[in-house]
Amino acid sequence: MQYCSDCSNKTSVKIPDGDNRERYVCEACNTIHYQNPKNVCGCILEWQGKVLLCKRAIEPRHGYWTLPAGFMENNETTMEGAAREAFEEAHATATDLRLFGLYNLPRISQVYLMFHGELKDGYMKAGDESLEVGLFTETEIPWDKLAFPVVTESLQRYFEDRPDHKVHVADIGGRHGSVINVTRY
Ligand SMILES: [Zn+2]
Repeated sequence: MQYCSDCSNKTSVKIPDGDNRERYVCEACNTIHYQNPKNVCGCILEWQGKVLLCKRAIEPRHGYWTLPAGFMENNETTMEGAAREAFEEAHATATDLRLFGLYNLPRISQVYLMFHGELKDGYMKAGDESLEVGLFTETEIPWDKLAFPVVTESLQRYFEDRPDHKVHVADIGGRHGSVINVTRY
């Protein structure tokens, strides 16, 4: 962050008084621009034993398959965010959503909140961010064409535990998205 979003003057990196980390601080108005992790909300939607996946039409990982998921917006709940992403990416209506997993991605400062539920009426159609959308059984899932480690992890745990899903908490880190500390509640 080179310029202050409040007054457009230059920022510099320093540790503010009473803090213990470097922050972007405006040289003119002294505003401290804190940067904190982002929440990503997503869902695993099932219809007749198959789960909904979207083929990404955007970078990163263009052309790879993912679960509907995206950054949470202001003024919505995590569950609303998950349902909104399913609608935007696949025109899918999510029903009966429940929390499935909480995934910490400290290396990229993100927290994923993954829900699971039903795909209403099995209806789906590719949204602007998807090249195509589809329903997959466990064996049909393109495991080597999944976009992100958190997607692989979610789907593996989902099929492993079916039909009695517990809530999972895991930390995903390392260069290749290795998974550490999976806990089920
Ligand atoms: Zn400023």
